[in-house]
Amino acid sequence: MNYKTHINGGILAGLYMNCQMIHMPFSSTAIFLGGAFVGSIFPDIDHGNSYIGKKTKGVSKAINKLAGHRKLFHAPLVYLFLYSAVIGMFINKFMLIGIKGVFLGILSHLVLDSLTVGGLPWFYPFSKKRFSIGMIKTNSKIEDILCGMLICINVVILLDMFHITSIFTFTHR
Ligand SMILES: [Zn+2]
Repeated sequence: MNYKTHINGGILAGLYMNCQMIHMPFSSTAIFLGGAFVGSIFPDIDHGNSYIGKKTKGVSKAINKLAGHRKLFHAPLVYLFLYSAVIGMFINKFMLIGIKGVFLGILSHLVLDSLTVGGLPWFYPFSKKRFSIGMIKTNSKIEDILCGMLICINVVILLDMFHITSIFTFTHR
């Protein structure tokens, strides 16, 4: 998937989770969504030609050489381990919210990449075998349609959040 789909997927995951948390102050929501935004594109740092890869040039190239594409940085088990390891380290409330947002964004990235033909190494580092639950090719028409749908849903949820519309009742606070 390209970065536009990933960003919109991450924002959707962030907005949805945010709507489940009652009485979140605006500052927390902003930090949480910011985290989800970063997390949604982070795993592709292992690819020099990706959006984040181009922004981080040398770092991305080094990671690609060391870890390869869609391996260590696209491994659900690795992130699960990292999440359990770091979540206790952040005692500051805002940092905790931010880091939760980042991991939610990463999760959305892994789900979306699992929908591609290339698939994802779900059990890496125990197995390099990639699993796919979809047939979407990156940058294809189908991805464009999926991205368009994600954008529409995000816009509707945002309009609901600001009480301009009331299409998704679950967004009501
Ligand atoms: Zn990816």
